[in-house]
Amino acid sequence: MSEREVVLSCRDLKKSYWQGKVEVPVLAGVNLEVARGERVAIVGASGSGKSTLLHILGGLDAASQGEVRILGRDVRTLGEAERGHLRNEALGFVYQFHHLLPEFTALENVAMPLLIRRMAPSAAYAEAAAMLEQVGLKHRLEHKPGELSGGERQRAAVARALVTKPACVLADEPTGNLDRRTAGAVFDLMLALNESLGTSFIIVTHDTQLAAKAQRILTLEDGALCS
Ligand code: ADP
Ligand code: MG
Repeated sequence: MSEREVVLSCRDLKKSYWQGKVEVPVLAGVNLEVARGERVAIVGASGSGKSTLLHILGGLDAASQGEVRILGRDVRTLGEAERGHLRNEALGFVYQFHHLLPEFTALENVAMPLLIRRMAPSAAYAEAAAMLEQVGLKHRLEHKPGELSGGERQRAAVARALVTKPACVLADEPTGNLDRRTAGAVFDLMLALNESLGTSFIIVTHDTQLAAKAQRILTLEDGALCS
């Protein structure tokens, strides 16, 4: 067995926003290590900084202080292009609202990240179709987002996040917009994909019942994560 590989980590992460001259601390020293294949749920009250933390981990926002490592590489030591490249290679994102492109079919939406990487279209569409089959949407390849149900749209968004085979998927309240049953189904799907693909997941949710299905539940409170 290889030793535990950490795919995403942060150390003493701090983030404040400024309201004029008043400092509003949001993250006050967050430490986290996510191992390959691990699934972590992050819960916390609204406004506790969950989205801020995911944005910083995903390189979409900068910390005020502290270290973020993606696949062991300190993002501060990388140039912007290199950082973007590492982020695209290593991470996938799922949001509360699906952000699928309305004028494209499910198949085209899921193939998009591969086409952007200049994969040959025939290969990209084949991979996208296989991933859509994994999320149970084999029969919806040619549907546009407006022709899918809310749960189907989120499943397509999950397929899009996973099609590039990222080491870790960051999901920010991916089921927050769904009814209870559909939310449970989409959540279960992510856990199943975690098992079958070995992708790590960090899933932010305010639903403690769903969070209980992850291997590890962390609570963001007073700017720090506790278990
Ligand atoms: P959560 O996702 O846990 O609900 P957020 O990370 O969205 O929390 O926000 C944490 C806190 O930071 C909130 O008090 C919010 O008002 C504040 N905040 C978030 N983004 C900004 C911003 N761009 N400017 C100022 N304050 C912000
Ligand atoms: Mg949020």
